[in-house]
This record gives sequence, structure tokens and C-alpha cells, in this order.
Amino acid sequence: MSDNCIFCKIAAGTIPCGKVYEDDQVLAFRDIHPQAPVHVLVIPKRHIATLDDVQEVDRADMGHLLERTTHVARLLGVAEDGYRVIVNTRKHGGQEVYHIHVHLMAGKPLGPMLSR
Ligand code: AMP
Repeated sequence: MSDNCIFCKIAAGTIPCGKVYEDDQVLAFRDIHPQAPVHVLVIPKRHIATLDDVQEVDRADMGHLLERTTHVARLLGVAEDGYRVIVNTRKHGGQEVYHIHVHLMAGKPLGPMLSR
């Protein structure tokens, strides 16, 4: 756990969240400012600041994070119609919270990915 990391506090249960799934390694909860009808964040409970900080030793955990994201999509009933997964990374990636999180967005056609 990293001091002053809001997602570590959510993972520890000291800040509430709209939990949709949890196991011993990951937590999935509703984004507080949803950008799609379904907008969930899936995080590792262990603090890693950004995708670019992932090391070889984290491979299995990152695989688990992504596989559990697909599980959450099925739980929420959006897998068949499809969904978008985004991992914003550092400043130019638009990352605001420096604890890796997978955005799972769904519930309507989401359109082109990038605005030009
Ligand atoms: P990013 O810009 O990729 O770092 O995304 C951070 C996301 O975290 C944003 O979509 C925020 O709306 C969301 N967020 C920030 N604080 C909370 C919170 N306490 N509970 C749920 N979502 C949050």
C-alpha cells in the first residue's frame, strides 16, 4: 500500500466504493464520474503506479487483472455486445490516479476511440 493513494485506500476498504467484484488480488468498482452507461475500474490491490512500472515479476498479476476484467464484463452482462478497455498511462495518457487501473466501458456503441 502506498500512502496517499486513493485506490490503495479503496482496496483497503477505508474509502467506500461501488464494488462490483473482488478477489484476493483485484477489486472492481464503479467509476465515480462514468463516461459510459457501464464504467467500471478494475485495479490490482497491490500498488503499482503505472502500466510502465510493470516488471517481469508482475506478469502473472497483470494477466490475472486482464482476465478478471473479462470476468467482470460477463458479470455485468456486457461481454456479448462488447466493451472497451483502457489503461491511461502517465501525463500524455491522461492518467490522473497513479495506481494502475483498467477502465471497462460499455453499454452503448462507444464510437471512434480517439478524437482528432
Ligand atoms: P485516469 O484518468 O485513467 O487516472 O482515471 C481515474 C478515474 O478514477 C477517473 O475516471 C475518475 O472518475 C475515477 N475516480 C477517481 N476517484 C474515484 C473514486 N473515489 N471512486 C471511483 N472512481 C474514482
